Amino acid sequence: MNKKIISKTKYIENERISNLTTIKTAGNICGAFYPKNETELKNIYQFLKTYKLPFIILGNGTNLLISDKAKIFAISTKGMQQEIFMKGDSLYVSASTPLAKIFHYTYKRCYSGFEELSSIPATLGGAIKMNASAFGRSIFDYLEYVKVFCNGNVIKLQKENIEYSYHKTNLNNCIILSAKFNLNKSKYYHIKNTLSNCMIKRNLSQPKGFCCGSVFKNPPFQFAGKLIESCGLKGYEKGGAEISPVHANFIINKNNASFQDVKFLIDICKRQVKKCFNVDLECEVEIIE
Ligand SMILES: Cc1cc2nc3c(=O)[nH]c(=O)nc-3n(C[C@H](O)[C@H](O)[C@H](O)COP(=O)(O)OP(=O)(O)OC[C@H]3O[C@@H](n4cnc5c(N)ncnc54)[C@H](O)[C@@H]3O)c2cc1C
Repeated sequence: MNKKIISKTKYIENERISNLTTIKTAGNICGAFYPKNETELKNIYQFLKTYKLPFIILGNGTNLLISDKAKIFAISTKGMQQEIFMKGDSLYVSASTPLAKIFHYTYKRCYSGFEELSSIPATLGGAIKMNASAFGRSIFDYLEYVKVFCNGNVIKLQKENIEYSYHKTNLNNCIILSAKFNLNKSKYYHIKNTLSNCMIKRNLSQPKGFCCGSVFKNPPFQFAGKLIESCGLKGYEKGGAEISPVHANFIINKNNASFQDVKFLIDICKRQVKKCFNVDLECEVEIIE
């Protein structure tokens, strides 16, 4: 791998974790690359693989909790070119595009499919990797294929060849580059109504502040937030982190919280819910230690 190619890409040594994740915990990682386009992205990916350097790919960092002890590099797709266009009823989008932008693009053209997802603060790449969903709509619903970079090749993975379940896919060890969706025409007022209802529900139920969304997956037929609340943990604090008094499945970074503060609260939720209800909570947030 040619190091000259790498040197073209923006690189920040000892990048702050707070610049990479929405929960903004304290500390630094080894460094972060900010490719501008697909070519740079692929080169950095190959470079880190070739030199066997540990790394993660980041979208908006809305589902990640990174330890300040993690000796890793990051490739952030956040500043990459965002491409979005339609041909007939088909929508083509690059991975770095935020879901809100996809919604606005399709709404203007009177196409339905992203109104329930638009308030998830994710990039398309992160949303596909995590099988993001909200208000009964999943990112996979209208998906036809995902283009990925894997073992040095760009390949198209049809939806039926991807394994996906509740907030989980098998899209590991590859970079998601773009995707194609097939959408349906709808009515402006219908799309707008759905959007408004979702926004109202979200604003009423979810807390504000630096966080990583829902910390735990909902166990079958139960709600993680309710279980944690029933253990009396709403409002419980450790260092700068707090189990939200608004919704117990959210941990808020109130005041320069460390990874350890948040991890402490995660562990206490798991322990207490196991003790009180014999339920094993599974993290939805991805923890990088
Ligand atoms: C306020 C708030 C509300 C939220 N609400 C919801 C919700 O309603 N529903 C929901 O499902 N989630 C929700 N989330 C969680 C989060 O937004 C989703 O999990 C989302 O899919 C993560 O997208 P991201 O771009 O931030 O990915 P990141 O958090 O940056 O990364 C998540 C995973 O995707 C991988 N990844 C990212 N980009 C790529 C790529 N291009 N190629 C390969 N792998 C990649 C990362 O390596 C990591 O494994 C919420 C989060 C917050 C902060």
